[in-house]
Amino acid sequence: MPSVPVLSPASFFKRGGQPLPSLLDAGAVRMVTSGRIAIGLALREMGIQPGDKVLVPAYHSPSMIPPVHWCGASVVFYRVRPDSTIDIDDIAAKLDGSVKAVMATHFFGFPQDLRSLRALCDAHGAGLLEDCAHAFFGHHAGTPVGSTGDYAIGSSMKFYPIYEGGCLVSHRRPLSFPLRSAGPGFEAKAALAALETAFAHGRLQGLRLALSLPLRLKGALWNALKSRRPAGSAAPALAPDSSDSSFNFDPRWVDKRSSLFSRLTVRFASRARIVALRRRHYLLLQQSLDGLPGCRPLFPTLPEGACPWIYPLLVDQADAAAASLQAAGVPMVRFGATLWPGVDAATCANSVALGRQLIGFPCHQELRAAELERLRAALRRALGATAALAA
Ligand SMILES: *Cc1c(COP(=O)(O)O)cnc(C)c1O
Repeated sequence: MPSVPVLSPASFFKRGGQPLPSLLDAGAVRMVTSGRIAIGLALREMGIQPGDKVLVPAYHSPSMIPPVHWCGASVVFYRVRPDSTIDIDDIAAKLDGSVKAVMATHFFGFPQDLRSLRALCDAHGAGLLEDCAHAFFGHHAGTPVGSTGDYAIGSSMKFYPIYEGGCLVSHRRPLSFPLRSAGPGFEAKAALAALETAFAHGRLQGLRLALSLPLRLKGALWNALKSRRPAGSAAPALAPDSSDSSFNFDPRWVDKRSSLFSRLTVRFASRARIVALRRRHYLLLQQSLDGLPGCRPLFPTLPEGACPWIYPLLVDQADAAAASLQAAGVPMVRFGATLWPGVDAATCANSVALGRQLIGFPCHQELRAAELERLRAALRRALGATAALAA
């Protein structure tokens, strides 16, 4: 059983803890409103055109597909291995002259080795887009996330407590296209929605009093703004639907900068704290799940270069377990449970199996000790009971 270092953020700094490399250090950076908008921009910058093909992992987020279609290109799915890493032989078999780009994802924050994929792309003249939506921090054998691809994208919303945010990064190319503000309505929405979420989780107690009036005002203002907008208006919505757990791609957000609130949060939040606490929470979950029947972690260990997005667990009776976990109020992510239409076991049996069996649990830096203890107890109860039922 791994021993879990007890790290308070303060002691971490006193001991001079080294944060993992951040995606934002990997090269030129542009802050946009979501990871999928950054994918669209990366493909556009690569010159992807109608008639081109883009290789995408058969295990994916459905939000990765519409940006490819926005460029007029078609998607070809390639296989992944049982642990979600790329099947390089399948990619090699599918790289023909019409494939102009390959997307590779560091799933769940575990950076994978992309050296052979880099060489393969170079040999075929295809661009490499490194999808770091789950891996804002980390390295593989000393190579920082985001530095192998021609372009890399991140989903800042998955790591920072912000309402909207994604980034496009390049280690190899300039990123000189213009971006503009989405306007004061959007700026206000982004700031207030982030604060509202913090309140809902009982954080920022000291600020609550000072901000309760502005938050009530926000409600009134928001309704007024909405009522002034004609129904079915062609003008962009005040906030992107990428912030509302949809998989849509709205091209009206392609030229919009992320809000000032999000950009400041991403710039000034402590990276060392995020990395240390996520790793610690991950290891505590690992410790509680160790030895429970009917389930196993997707990754047997937490490598030193990884900062996890969530804790991915493979569960034999995943639907039954998810139902009892949901009844117990446990937050979960069923990543890959919905794949793009047409992706089935013939496309990639490993992807379908991952989508069916995987349940992800939160290891977010803002989880408090009591919340984590409740989560651990609920997991042991629900997973123990499910395994007993199945036996
Ligand atoms: C979430 C996600 C994206 C897109 O990020 P958004 O910020 O939600 O647009 C891309 N790739 C993967 C693997 C994701 O999970």
